[in-house]
Amino acid sequence: MKAMVLNEVCDLKKNRSPLQLTTLPLPTTKETDLLIKVSTCGVCHTELDEIEGRTLPSRFPMVLGHQIVGSVEETGSHTGRYKKGDRVGIAWIYSSCGHCDFCRQGNENLCDEFRATGRDANGGYAEYMTVPEDFAFRIPDVFSDSQAAPLLCAGAIGYRSLRLADIKDGQNLGLTGFGASAHLVLKMVNYQHSDVKVFVFARSEKERDFAKELGAVWAGDTGDKAPEMLDGIIDTTPAWKPVVEAMNNLRPGGRLVINAIRKEDRDKDYLLKLNYHEHLWMEKEIKSVANVARNDVSEFIDLAAQIPIIPEFEEYPLESANEALMELKERKIRGAKVLTLS
Ligand SMILES: [Zn+2]
Ligand SMILES: [Zn+2]
Repeated sequence: MKAMVLNEVCDLKKNRSPLQLTTLPLPTTKETDLLIKVSTCGVCHTELDEIEGRTLPSRFPMVLGHQIVGSVEETGSHTGRYKKGDRVGIAWIYSSCGHCDFCRQGNENLCDEFRATGRDANGGYAEYMTVPEDFAFRIPDVFSDSQAAPLLCAGAIGYRSLRLADIKDGQNLGLTGFGASAHLVLKMVNYQHSDVKVFVFARSEKERDFAKELGAVWAGDTGDKAPEMLDGIIDTTPAWKPVVEAMNNLRPGGRLVINAIRKEDRDKDYLLKLNYHEHLWMEKEIKSVANVARNDVSEFIDLAAQIPIIPEFEEYPLESANEALMELKERKIRGAKVLTLS
C-alpha cells in the first residue's frame, strides 16, 4: 500500500519534504482489530510537533495522521460492533490499557499505556491502517468523509477543554488563541449555553473579526484586559504570555485550561511576570488538557451533527502531504486541510 512516512525528526526550516512516499506491506489485523481502508485523513498541527520532535513518535518510520475517516475492510475474529463496509472515524486516542483506574473512569486519555494514532501506531497518511475496534467511532450521516475528518481532533479536544473549563449558564468564558479548536468551542457554547458570553484574545485582527462574526461579545489582543472578569479561559496557543495575561482576567475561583500538547520556549521569560497575588491568589486554578478520551470524540461528533458544525476544508492527494503540512506551518490557512485517498 501507498504511505507517506516520517523516517526521522527534522527541521522544517531546512527540509520542506519531511515525509517520503513509500510502499508498505498491508498491515495485519489482530483479533480485536479492524482493518480500515482510509478515505480521508485530516492534517493537524500535532504532525508538525511530531516532525520537529516536540512530541516524538515512539518509533520510525511512522505513518502520521490521526483524523481519519474510512471504511471497514476486514474484521478481527474477536470483534463484533462493525461489519465490512461500515464507515468509521479514528481519532488521536488509538488505545489504552482498559483496566487501570483512569480507563475504568472514562479518563483513558490519562492512562499510562495511552497510545496515540500516528505517533505510537501507524495512522492515516496511508491507504490502510488497523485500529482496535473499541477505538473506532461511528460517523453520523450528515457529514461527508472530508467534513468529518477535521472534527475528530480539534473538535473533540475543544469539547474536552470546554468540559474541563466547567462553565455554567450565565458565566463568562474567555478564549485565548482563535484557531480551529477555539472556533469550534465558540460554536458549541453558542448552541449549548446561549447566555454564556465569550471573550476572545487573539493577536491577529482577522481572527478577532472572525470571532466577533461567530458571536464573541468582545475580541482584543493577547495582553488586553477584557471589559468583564471571566470565570474560565481556554488557552490554545503555544506561548506563555497568554497564560500570564489570562490569569489577570480571571475572577476569583476562576480557571485557566491550557489546551496545548506542548508549549514552545520562545517567550518563557514572560512567566517571570507571574505575580502570586495578582495572578494566582483567590483560588484561581490552572489545568491542562491531555489527549482525548473516547467519550469526548463520540459525544462531540454527535453534538456537531446536531448543531450542525460543518467544517470547510481543502483537499490534497496523499502525495501532497508535505505541501499541506508546509502551508499549515506557514499559516496559509483557509479551511481545514485533508488528504484524500482514492
Ligand atoms: Zn489504562
Ligand atoms: Zn490533531
